[in-house]
Parts: sequence; structure tokens; C-alpha cells
Amino acid sequence: MASTHVSSRKVVIVGAGPVGCLAAIALANLGWNVDVYEARPDLRLPSSKAAAQQRSINLAISSRGIAALQAVDQAAAARFLETVIPMRGRMIHDVQGNQHSQLYDKDGQVGNYIPHSGRLLNFCINSIDRALLNEGLLEEASAVPNIRLFFKHKVLSVDFDNRNMVLRDIDSESDVRIDFHFCIGADGSYSVIRRQLMRVVRMDFQQEYIPHEYIELKMPAGQDEHGKPTFLLDPNHLHIWPRHSFMLIALPNKDKTFTSTLFAPTIEFDRLISPETILSWFKAHFPDALALLGEDKLLEDFQKNPRSPLVSTKSKPYHYKDRCVILGDAAHSMVPFYGQGLNCGLEDVRVLRTLFQDEGVTATYPLAELGINGIVDQPLFAALARYSESRHDDLVAISELAMDNYIEMRHSVTTPAYIFRKTLDNI
Ligand code: FAD
Repeated sequence: MASTHVSSRKVVIVGAGPVGCLAAIALANLGWNVDVYEARPDLRLPSSKAAAQQRSINLAISSRGIAALQAVDQAAAARFLETVIPMRGRMIHDVQGNQHSQLYDKDGQVGNYIPHSGRLLNFCINSIDRALLNEGLLEEASAVPNIRLFFKHKVLSVDFDNRNMVLRDIDSESDVRIDFHFCIGADGSYSVIRRQLMRVVRMDFQQEYIPHEYIELKMPAGQDEHGKPTFLLDPNHLHIWPRHSFMLIALPNKDKTFTSTLFAPTIEFDRLISPETILSWFKAHFPDALALLGEDKLLEDFQKNPRSPLVSTKSKPYHYKDRCVILGDAAHSMVPFYGQGLNCGLEDVRVLRTLFQDEGVTATYPLAELGINGIVDQPLFAALARYSESRHDDLVAISELAMDNYIEMRHSVTTPAYIFRKTLDNI
């Protein structure tokens, strides 16, 4: 006789990046038992922090991402907003060192929120250190009783039909098999879960590397007359040095430094092979930035920091039956020029959560009915099918806008017609 035992189901989330953490909190709040498996060590450990500090990626979080955080956890979103720096416009730096402010809307975006209400006063983009955001979300997730976090566990393969997966326990160098009822792949651009899904789903998949790369360069804080750290540039702007085929950008950090990123074609980077060529290239194209970055620090960062590729991926569908869905970069990597990759990943969680509620997906289910060939959980099946169907066009649109915005940022913002139009907008 089939058991009628009813209990909360287990969702396994692969990847404890920002999207995996938010998905964990969202499903735990809906009553699921959540196990998160992450290949890397815990970001919050001192040894991991030291490594993260060497390579700090800044992100622009917009109202899209903030709305997702608020939908999942109002209090966490309010705490998160304490740590960001609002950017009301972009500051264009020309080769002569002049700066032109272009506000993102004609009224300027003030970037405050209503304290304790969790509601946004306006829709500013905000600078945040990616590691800090990830750490904050890990903290929030580890405070939720029905979430368990497992670090240094790398998923190797998944058997969706039998609802289990094999992971490598990196410390013990052994493989373990674990069961799940439902699985979420939030394991980034080179997702193993996506590759495993492709074995059972007729997934359309596209991957494109653009001919440009990026490297991160740290801009130190200045000092005021009392020796206190100060920003060397206006902190409420996203700074851009557009040079047509390449560009430098800088986003503010809470410690009064800026993280700048140089985007350039691979052939341009390949010419920068010695300290002399690097310095003379910066003197020619970014003299004011060079003065702020400092010659020694620039050369050190150039030597130490990796040159990373920029990849754009598109997939469809994102799910398999009632077993699995991929979210965030695992489903859609996009080039960073629209600042929406993570924002869309967080929004994935909000949209999925809404569909779970719409379709009446419940965390509890008669477990015996979820056997190998057991009855498909119809509400979950329907929610995932609607997710793939409704989400795809939006994600493709924003991915294409991101591609177009590179030309806008490195070139169009410098053209007289653009500056004239922006000036009229701001009158
Ligand atoms: P990830 O952050 O990649 O996390 C995936 C996690 O999965 C990792 O922790 C990884 O270790 C783990 N993992 C991978 N494989 C396995 C496995 N087999 N088993 C277990 N764990 C595994 N987005 C914005 O919204 N705004 C911006 O301004 C912005 N700027 C950017 C600037 C640059 C230069 C770049 C490169 C990206 C930028 N993005 C931006 C995009 C943003 O960084 C990503 O969209 C975001 O980090 C994706 O989050 P994620 O949680 O989906 O994936």
C-alpha cells in the first residue's frame, strides 16, 4: 500500500552565488527543505575573503534586482540597501581630463529608500562589491533554519529521472550520491546542471564570446587634511572613459576606493606587454585616470589580475518536467554593459516564486507519489513550463540591449549629437 506520509520536500540548489542564495531563501520561505551545494570554500572565511579582496568585482544593482530582493525578504533588502552607493548618472572623462556629467534622468536619481518600509523612493542604480553582496546573502541564508549550506562540494552529474546527483567532496576527495525532489541550477556561466539538462531536454543553446576582454584595476582612496580617506572622484556617478574601440569604467566602493575595469579588444591587450607600453598607452588615452590609479599600482594590477573573457549565452527551455530549472548566469550569461546580468538573475527568482504561488505549488507532497515513475507534480510542472515560456523573450531582449550598450558606452556617448541631445534632456 502506498504511504500517505506527507512531508516538506527537498530542493537541492547548485551554486551559492547571489542567485543560488536568493533562490534558497525564497524556497525556504515557501516551506521547502533547502540544501545548497557550492564547489568553492565559504566566502565568509578569512582565507576566502583575502582571495576575494585581491579581485573585487563591482556591480550596479538596479530597481530590478532590488525589487527581487524585496519580494523574497523585505528586511534583508533593507539591510542590503544600507551597503550600496547610489549612482545618479554617468561621468564622461575626455582625453583632456574634462568631466561631463550625464544624469540618468532629467530630475536626477537621488537614491534613497524609505527606511523600515522596505519601499524604494526612486529607481537609482547602486554600486556594490559583488563579494559583499554574496557574503550578505550567505549570512541571510545561513540564518534560515530549513537551509543547509555545503561548501567544497562540486556537482559532477545528475540523474533527473531517478532524482539524484553525484558530487565530489573536495576535502575527502570522495564522491557522494544525494537525492532530491527538485533541483535548481544556479551554477553560473559554465553550468554543469545546464550541460546535464541538455542530455534530457531538447535545449536550444547559443554561446558567443565577444572579441573584447576585461581586467580590473583598483583606484585607491585619497586623504583629506586630517588623514581620513576620501573619494578621488565623485562617488555618485558611474565614471566612463570612452575611447571608441575600448573604455575604462570606475564604480565607487564604501571604503572610498573605486574599482575600475578596462574593456578592450584582445588585440589591443596583446600589445600591452611591457611596463613601458602599458604606461605610454595609459598616458595617451587615460592620463587623468593614470594619475589616480598610480603608475606602480597599475603595473602591479596588470601583472597580477587576470584578463577575463566576456561570454553571452542563451538557452531555451530552462527546465525539465517537474525536476529542475536553471536560473541566473547558468541560464543566461550576458555581457556586462547594461549592468543587468545579476539583476536579471535575481529577477528570475522573483518570477519563479510568483509562478509557484500562482500555480499553487506546495512544499509538502505525498512523498510516495514522487517515485521514479511516480505521478508528476502538476502544479510544479505547470509553473516551470510557464517560467520557460514567459521568461525567454525578456531575457533575450535584455541580453541584446547589453550587447548594444557597449557601443553606446565606449563610443556613442562621445558623439556631439549625443551630448547635444543629453544637454537638452537636462535643461
Ligand atoms: P555566479 O555568481 O557565477 O555563481 C555561481 C556559483 O556556482 C559559484 O559560486 C560557483 O563556484 C558555483 N558552481 C559552479 N559550478 C558548480 C558545481 N559544479 N558544483 C557546485 N557549485 C558550482 N550584473 C549586474 O547585474 N550588474 C552589473 O553591474 C554587472 N557587472 C558585471 C561586470 C563584469 C566585469 C562581469 C563579468 C559581470 C557583471 N555582471 C553584472 C554580471 C554578474 O556578475 C553575474 O550575472 C552574476 O554574478 C551571476 O550570478 P549567479 O549567482 O547566477 O552566478
